[in-house]
Amino acid sequence: MTALTDIVPPGVVTGDNLLKLLEHARDNGYAIPAVNCTSSSTANACLEAAAKNNSPVIIQVSNGGGAFLVGKSIKDANAAAAGSVALAYHVRAVAKYYGVPVVLHSDHCAKKLLPWFDGMLEADEEYYKMFGEPLFSSHMLDLSEEPDEENIDICVKYFKKMAPMKIWLEMEIGITGGEEDGVNNEDVDPEKLYTTPEQVYSVYEALSKIGPMFSIAAAFGNVHGVYKPGNVKLSPEKLLTHQEYTKEKIGSSLERPIFLVMHGGSGSTDDEIKLAVSNGVIKMNIDTDTQWAYWDGLRIFEAAKHDYLQGQIGNPEGDDKPNKKQYDPRTWVRKAEESMTARVALSMEKLGSVGTYPKSSEPGSQQVLGKKVNVVDGVISAVKGLLPH
Ligand SMILES: [Zn+2]
Repeated sequence: MTALTDIVPPGVVTGDNLLKLLEHARDNGYAIPAVNCTSSSTANACLEAAAKNNSPVIIQVSNGGGAFLVGKSIKDANAAAAGSVALAYHVRAVAKYYGVPVVLHSDHCAKKLLPWFDGMLEADEEYYKMFGEPLFSSHMLDLSEEPDEENIDICVKYFKKMAPMKIWLEMEIGITGGEEDGVNNEDVDPEKLYTTPEQVYSVYEALSKIGPMFSIAAAFGNVHGVYKPGNVKLSPEKLLTHQEYTKEKIGSSLERPIFLVMHGGSGSTDDEIKLAVSNGVIKMNIDTDTQWAYWDGLRIFEAAKHDYLQGQIGNPEGDDKPNKKQYDPRTWVRKAEESMTARVALSMEKLGSVGTYPKSSEPGSQQVLGKKVNVVDGVISAVKGLLPH
């Protein structure tokens, strides 16, 4: 196995490095968790999980997440784009300190939300002019509600705009059940919850003419959100049929020529996840489970410290004792973060990404652009350069 550390630098990865990262996942049979983030706090919790588990991570923002990030009081047509860009800048500013590859992605964009997508693309273009790479690594278009032909046409139109900046496109075809971001598929005909190999191939055919950097979320009985077990029949074995069909059509030497993405994975069994990954899933979305984890950390903290959280002064240790340490947001938000970090780590374990990006164990060394650089040596040679010869 080629070491990921030798081919992909730490920090936000875009373009060729992103392609290398996802090819590495495909070729080595693991997937990367993509976690919906709605704040700097939740983003940091993901970065912490990635750093502690030597794993790459995908941080993604939804339209609703973007609108929340800008501030709920702001009612502006560009609010969601502005908030999404703000999260991207936050992640860009801090990612390098965590020492692992980070993918910046935007989640489901239905037809009515295209102005949000356009706003983020504008930010990508601006960033590209300044730094020669886009702000985001990747964006998702979800036109699965539209007829297939229109879905694919719109994806082609956008992918042509994105390809020159080497931005990844994730698209969805077929119906994922449940409800997310205002799209409600709760009462859909169960037969329609499975994308066919022909549908997947038609996407491959259209997008591969433009570039290799795209992935497909094909429905295989997945449902957004958490449902009672038994209500959904997940069929990850169908994903292999997609791979085989396209492989045959294009005569590919790759066993799994298509990058697949798993949505609606909350509540899936470990075996279902494993089978999906072995059939070419390289990214799995996580939202519902990490939302719960974030809340659960706070819930447990409040239950344990309840009597210290009822007023600014006065607790079981005395009527005049201050409680500032307990109600400082850095205390209780941190509890939420720790709980979410642990949940993201669990997903990394299930998806097999743990340990794929080992940081150097040599003291004082860190990775810069994939090369191990000894910080002490670097400082010594810099100091030597300053001394008179
Ligand atoms: Zn989806």
